Amino acid sequence: MRIAVLSDIHANLMALQRVLQAIDALRPHALWCLGDIVGYGPHPQACVEIIRARTDVCLAGNHDLVIVGKIDLARFNPVAREAALWHRRHLDDDSLQWLAGLPEKTVTAGITLAHGSPRHPVWEYVSDAETAAENYAAFDTPICLIGHSHQAMGWRMVRQGGRIDVTWVTEAPGAALTLALSDKWLLNPGSVGQPRDHDSRASFALLDTETWQWTWHRVEYDIEAVERAIVAAGLPEMLGRRLYLGW
Ligand code: ZN
Repeated sequence: MRIAVLSDIHANLMALQRVLQAIDALRPHALWCLGDIVGYGPHPQACVEIIRARTDVCLAGNHDLVIVGKIDLARFNPVAREAALWHRRHLDDDSLQWLAGLPEKTVTAGITLAHGSPRHPVWEYVSDAETAAENYAAFDTPICLIGHSHQAMGWRMVRQGGRIDVTWVTEAPGAALTLALSDKWLLNPGSVGQPRDHDSRASFALLDTETWQWTWHRVEYDIEAVERAIVAAGLPEMLGRRLYLGW
């Protein structure tokens, strides 16, 4: 089975549309989303409708949970809070209800999915080897897919006696990483709508469960159009500017 994996769309419709075009060309059997469909960007309603219609599995991220009121807004910085309040006003009740019903973590087809980390699915960032190692025992499958850090990269973990050896892994877009199932892997497809790995292109990944190959993909999209929509919506302007930086 070939599974397209995407995460952290953040209401960026232009990026989502381009990513889905690229995914459709790859003809995957399934589409999984690791959460943060909304938050930050100018098109929350359209993004929810598309993700809802297109995905086979979808998780809730911290932004989704704040917007539906399951997490206190006070946990967000002022910019994220302002965007979350705007999103609440621009999502219909049906969409809010759908977001509120999404799981924070799941296991499907022998693969664990969590927005942040398997240990703390809503809030924890896996951005260093130490945090990766601390999550080794928090999932029982060889692979755990994560989002939240908005960085296309992963961690390979091998148990050596009493300790966990952790290696940071990444590959150029389009180059396959072969996953040994005797090891454990934390893999992040990167962010569709707000990449933070110094590459402004929208990111997603493809997982092939026959060859156990994982491939990151990047696609360009019209950042200027998103920036204009952010300004027109009256959302904080830095949310548009940061898209050019990929940070
Ligand atoms: Zn996010």
